[in-house]
Formats: sequence, structure tokens, C-alpha cells
Amino acid sequence: MIQLTDIGYVKRLMSAHGITFQKKFGQNFLINPAVPERIAAECGAKPEDAILEIGPGIGTMTQYLCEMYEKVVAVEIDRALIPILDETLAAYDNVTVIEGDIMKINLPALFASHFAGKNVTVCANLPYYITTPILMLLLESGLPLDNITVMIQKEVADRLAAAPGTAEYGAVTAAVQYYAEVEKLFQVSAGNFLPAPKVDSAVVRMHLYKEKPVKVKEEALFFRVIRAAFGQRRKTLLNALSAGMGDFTKSELAEAIARARFAENIRGERLSTAEFGHLADLLFDIKHP
Ligand code: SAM
Repeated sequence: MIQLTDIGYVKRLMSAHGITFQKKFGQNFLINPAVPERIAAECGAKPEDAILEIGPGIGTMTQYLCEMYEKVVAVEIDRALIPILDETLAAYDNVTVIEGDIMKINLPALFASHFAGKNVTVCANLPYYITTPILMLLLESGLPLDNITVMIQKEVADRLAAAPGTAEYGAVTAAVQYYAEVEKLFQVSAGNFLPAPKVDSAVVRMHLYKEKPVKVKEEALFFRVIRAAFGQRRKTLLNALSAGMGDFTKSELAEAIARARFAENIRGERLSTAEFGHLADLLFDIKHP
């Protein structure tokens, strides 16, 4: 395996290809081999599974994924890195590198042509500028994913794994926990990257529910309730919903909150995903008597 975590090697490789780190693409490459090896090993996939990697960079974690799993597809936005990946991954015949933006690529087509009949896990050291949009895109895609295991900014990891009523709990937590069981695996300090980012990171594994434990009558309404509840964090749930859901009168909202048996002055941040689901269903019933 090429030592892609060796700083001297990385710098020589990049200068030989005439490229520099692109801040706009969130490029912070791993320089401690123990980290990509551990992320790859703990991503939740089985040896016969396929992996979708987002942002392979120069192929540091991709090598470990190729060693451990049957098939790897890696999507990289930075065109300048493609020739480097051709070189660093030349030893593997189970990898396909696709140049593209994960936010724009046709994921159903990618799955149909590369992952038919396979269990798929996403494994990535994500660019921090776009972490939440990528996660929501993957979760909302409805694509048959087993796990999404990602290294992200530590604060975001804390939010995704947060329990109701804590300071870290927010709209994204409730939404992500609707789709998946979230587990924070381990922390990675900034010194493990080149260049070192300003913040520490953590690895989170999301195991997607095959059968969602929270079933709602209308998903769009459920997500609207969550967004409105956290839109005005300092307000009570009733006032926050009243400010964010103009199609319900305040008395309709108060009726649903009472029917759910929540305290009159409860704040949205105390509600679990299941409780948001229950509340959304009560609102649905009010509109569809
Ligand atoms: N996997 C490498 C590692 O761990 O050393 C690099 C990780 S670096 C934090 C993020 C990578 O994602 C970069 O290679 C960057 O060019 C790529 N990237 C950024 N935005 C992307 C996007 N929208 N689609 C695909 N790749 C992207």
C-alpha cells in the first residue's frame, strides 16, 4: 500500500502533478494512517458489500476500503485529483473513480450501474463546508443504503447524536434520527490532517432503518413541524409553531399540543423524533377530519 499519509510523499505527489490544496473544496487530507484504517474498518459494511466514498482526495482512505470491501465507487469533485487517484489506486481493480459533485450527480443512475444487487455503505471524510446538505441528500434520497459513516466536524457530530432537551439537539438531529440510528464512534484531533483544520472532528455511523420506528401520515408535514419548532428556539412550542406554520390557527395548534398531552408551555427542543411524529399526525387529523 502506498504511504499516502506520509507528509513528504503527499507534498511530492501534489507538486509532481502541479496542484495545491483547494480550500474551496474543503480539502484536509488525513496524515495518520490509523485514522482512515479505523474509519474503513468500523463503517458497518461486510467484506462482500459495496462502498460509496465521497471525496477520496488522493485516495488515502480509498486504499483501505479497496482492501476491506468487494467494490468501491469514489466520487471526487476536484478534476485535478483524478490523475493522482489513477496513480495511487492503480493496484486495485475493484475501484471506480467518478469525477463529479455528489450534490449534482445522478445517484439513482450511479446505483443502478454500479451497485445492483449489492448492500451499500457510504464511507467518507466529508468536506465540512457541505456536511449537512450531503447527509440530508443521502437520507432523503430513499436509496437503499445500509450505513452512512462519516468524519465530520465534532460539533456537528455532537448535534447528530444528541438527545432531546440538550443544547446540541436541533432540527437536524430530529430529522436524521428519523432515518437512522446514530452512533458517535470516536474523535479525531485537527493535527491528524494536512492542512490542519481549525476544529476537531469526529466519526459518526448512521445505521439506516429498513423499517422506520416512527411512522408518520405525511412526511412533508412532519418535517415542517420540526423546522418550525426549532425556528424560534426560545419560544414555547405553541408560539414557535404559530410563527412557522401559517396554515394552522393558534387554536388548532394548541388543540394538537393538548391532545398529545404535552405541557402547555413545553419547548420544541424537548420533543423526541417519535413525539414530533405524533404531533404532526394530530395536526394532519385536524386538517383531514
Ligand atoms: N478522503 C480524503 C482524506 O480523508 O484524506 C480527503 C477528504 S477531504 C476532507 C474532502 C474531499 O472531498 C476532497 O478531496 C474534496 O475535493 C472532495 N469534495 C468536496 N466537495 C465535494 C463534492 N461536492 N462532491 C464530491 N467531492 C467533494
